Amino acid sequence: MKLEKELSPHAQAALEQIDKCTSCGLCKEVCPVFALSLREAESPRGKLNLLNSLLNGGLNSTAVGVDIFNRCLLCYACQDACPAGVQTERVWIAAREILADQVGRPLAKSFFLKRILPSPRLWNLAFNIGRRLPGRGESIKLNKRVLPKPAGNRIDDLLPEELLPEGEPVGTVAYFPGCMLTEVFPHVGVKAAEILQRLGYRVITPRERSCCGAPAFNNGDLATGRRLALRNIELFSRMDVDAVISPDATCGGAFHHEYDLLFPTGSSMRSAYLELREKVKDFGDFILDRLDSGSDVKFRNVERRITIHDSCHLNHLQKKADVPRRLLSKIPGIEIAESPLSDVCCGFGGSYSIYFPGESQAISKRNLENFQAEDGGIICVGSPGCLWRLRSEAAVMALNVQIVHYLEVIWESLLGAEKEFNLVTQNNADISDKSHSTEDLFNNTNTQ
Ligand code: SF4
Ligand code: SF4
Repeated sequence: MKLEKELSPHAQAALEQIDKCTSCGLCKEVCPVFALSLREAESPRGKLNLLNSLLNGGLNSTAVGVDIFNRCLLCYACQDACPAGVQTERVWIAAREILADQVGRPLAKSFFLKRILPSPRLWNLAFNIGRRLPGRGESIKLNKRVLPKPAGNRIDDLLPEELLPEGEPVGTVAYFPGCMLTEVFPHVGVKAAEILQRLGYRVITPRERSCCGAPAFNNGDLATGRRLALRNIELFSRMDVDAVISPDATCGGAFHHEYDLLFPTGSSMRSAYLELREKVKDFGDFILDRLDSGSDVKFRNVERRITIHDSCHLNHLQKKADVPRRLLSKIPGIEIAESPLSDVCCGFGGSYSIYFPGESQAISKRNLENFQAEDGGIICVGSPGCLWRLRSEAAVMALNVQIVHYLEVIWESLLGAEKEFNLVTQNNADISDKSHSTEDLFNNTNTQ
């Protein structure tokens, strides 16, 4: 490929990772995309080789290159499996950035990233339009693409900006639910804030927060990602809080990992970013610390047998797979049944599920089959993206399982007796209602 423009410093640095690869192929064994297609070009090793060839002029920059680099869930299982330490979390984003720079993006994607995502007015409008579109279960279909359907209310309609605990607060936290818990699963997002309140915290959910930027930089649009990140850094740096808490593993991962790429050493916002990063905590990690340091909250007995799906951005990005297990094991009556392959990606992958709905669905199906969930069983996830993808597929498969964020089980134990109890809050439909099957939304037609 003849490079039309110079590579950004970020892309240059990321590509140095390619040289570390020894072609051992161990990453192929853990890649869900390769497991499905068995095409070397779609494996992590194949993609590294392809990128190397593209940049060294051995291959032509055709749309094939663009398509291949989008065929990745950004699950980062390959990074964890690599004995040579290739940081694929840097390479895959850089590859998308380079391809977009050199070849361009489809018009609709460019409009979404450059116009809709960074504009709070248009971003809200997009969700409001989504609310009105006819859906099946928790999904809508738009121009052959399957998307999460926004719930009737946003979290900001259900949760006051300031939530006060009973008695003197032990501290103040800023709450960052992320777009999925704000728009698609607001009732789950509210439960996270109520748990923090129960632990004695004053919880502030600032209305001016922005998307963390993951949809932008994960699609190689670092400029838009940086714009959104800057807004969040400026907002949370102004707040006098002990911590900034997110129960969305993707957003938490973004603050700790991708923002680090966006504000490298030497950039003017680096010190403000590092100061904020100290305060950004994963929801589960934060409450685990609080409980281990002598909180007097009492867990009510909950008799449930639970299987855990390790959400990739909690597991491979934030290295916190143990957190849901340690938290849930504090609840009397909870039995955790480990499942083989519980750490395989659910198939969501953000835009992957939109562009490759057939493959995304197939990966989710395999995932649910691996769980061999018992009738009426419960699968806990650590991220709302997994919640949507696995629930959608469970509905298609007509499985009688409950799929919940693990925080909902904690909420059940701490607060369920006082509130009108409902472990699974379905926003749009009852998952067991076959008339709401999402099957016809997924037609195995890949769209790019
Ligand atoms: S595991 Fe690492 S070194 Fe081995 S082929 Fe994959 S990227 Fe290369
Ligand atoms: S990030 Fe996940 S889907 Fe992408 S190449 Fe690595 S293992 Fe495969």
